[in-house]
Amino acid sequence: MTDMQTVQLSLKIDHDYELWFGKYAKQTLGQIALRDYCYFDWLKTKCESIKENPTSLLDKLKLGDSGNGQNPLYRLCQSKNALDTLNGLKVLLNSYKITERCKEIGCQNSATRVSIYGTVQFGYSVSPAYVYCNKHSPSADEPSKIRLVPIKHDSLLYFGRHFYRGVKTDTRQIQEVLNELAGFKGKITKQNAKSFFQGLEARLFEMPSLDSRAQAI
Ligand SMILES: [Zn+2]
Repeated sequence: MTDMQTVQLSLKIDHDYELWFGKYAKQTLGQIALRDYCYFDWLKTKCESIKENPTSLLDKLKLGDSGNGQNPLYRLCQSKNALDTLNGLKVLLNSYKITERCKEIGCQNSATRVSIYGTVQFGYSVSPAYVYCNKHSPSADEPSKIRLVPIKHDSLLYFGRHFYRGVKTDTRQIQEVLNELAGFKGKITKQNAKSFFQGLEARLFEMPSLDSRAQAI
């Protein structure tokens, strides 16, 4: 069994799991991942840290009291269901099969990277039309303004956290493009998010059987 199959088999996602606190209260974890992946990843990281070291980190949390004497993040990380769902959704958004082709004329390779153009000072622009394989990149008058980032949602963490804090609109724009490249369409409703992630899950589960069929031939 390959590593890929091991990951797939361990996914246990509750597509209806809703957060009950914070700025995304009453939204499912899937909706949050599509709306604000950096916050989603922050939740996941915090939960895992608290799980590993409950006492030292609780003091540093600033989310306040949920009303029953327990920090809501602390309660969230007690839920195996929540942790499994956070893990599963993250796996899906970072390992789906990309269907777009490289935009270099004549190239038949699958796209692996999306081009983000701009600077910290003037902001960034990104479009699903500018995707390339590992060999090619777009031509530009100022190549230094181009960044090619992997087509996966973890690329947002680089922009959202480390690269230029605070430019929320650019991060949102990049998130929308990555959502689109993953195949998400429409408004981020509970039902749309659920159908989308179930579709990604089904595509992941399809791959091993397709691979084994190819080998058999
Ligand atoms: Zn190419």
